[in-house]
Amino acid sequence: MNEPFDPTASPLAIQGLTVSYGERLALLGVDFVTPPGRLSAIVGPNGAGKSTLLKAALGIQPRVAGELLAYGRPLPRPPRHIAYVPQRSSIDWDFPATALDVVLMGLYGRLRWWQPTRRRHRHWARECLARVGMEAFAETQIGRLSGGQQQRIFLARALAQQAELLLLDEPFAGVDAATERAIIELFRTFRTQGGSVLCVHHDLATVRDYFDHLLLLDVEMVAAGPVAETFTATNLQQTYGGRLTAAQLARLLPATEAFRP
Ligand code: ADP
Ligand code: MG
Repeated sequence: MNEPFDPTASPLAIQGLTVSYGERLALLGVDFVTPPGRLSAIVGPNGAGKSTLLKAALGIQPRVAGELLAYGRPLPRPPRHIAYVPQRSSIDWDFPATALDVVLMGLYGRLRWWQPTRRRHRHWARECLARVGMEAFAETQIGRLSGGQQQRIFLARALAQQAELLLLDEPFAGVDAATERAIIELFRTFRTQGGSVLCVHHDLATVRDYFDHLLLLDVEMVAAGPVAETFTATNLQQTYGGRLTAAQLARLLPATEAFRP
């Protein structure tokens, strides 16, 4: 499917991205242009390579082949215009850091190594905590926070970085309903400010409501484009194979859509 967006205007364009873990191919020849100022979702079954795609896009995961472009140019290292919120389960929550410490980490890319964090940095970090409703927890050890609160702290860290693109890996997994609403509100505010989001998302029921743009992934790109055109029965069946039942599809899609051949 042709991408309607100009790669030179995109905060992240991926071409022919191929990644393997030893012999095991995780991504094969994936093309995707993250549209600027839009909320994009990466959707696909377990093991589809969704987390790998985010890590490769940041240069954390080496690639076998493929080009990564930031606004049409090779991705800078580190890509400071991209903030990353990893999957919560992949984080060691026992390391001794307060919520404020974690948010300040978002600033390290901007500070010189010899610069101590100053009052204005801490002030900005607290401001970011306030934006996710976590001001009161600045001095709390992160290990003592609930799943939803931890997710908000990592969002605050991403905000502190003042990135143009947020990459998030299943930010809604295991969080309470209030946090889910807070996250989606934050996405929408970020979008009105021109920011872009690329988010691995596991809940098919909210794709239409939450996102503008979609990448359906199963090692290879199955389909990509605006949600309205891409989130179809045919594409979902192709992405999930036999893993989605007709009843599940019917619930997800308008009746006419679900039964279109
Ligand atoms: P997803 O996030 O879509 O569930 P992942 O990107 O985590 O998928 O993984 C894609 C594939 O790569 C899976 O088959 C997974 O088992 C494998 N994989 C992921 N990380 C590693 C790793 N560090 N070493 C070996 N295989 C891995
Ligand atoms: Mg994953």
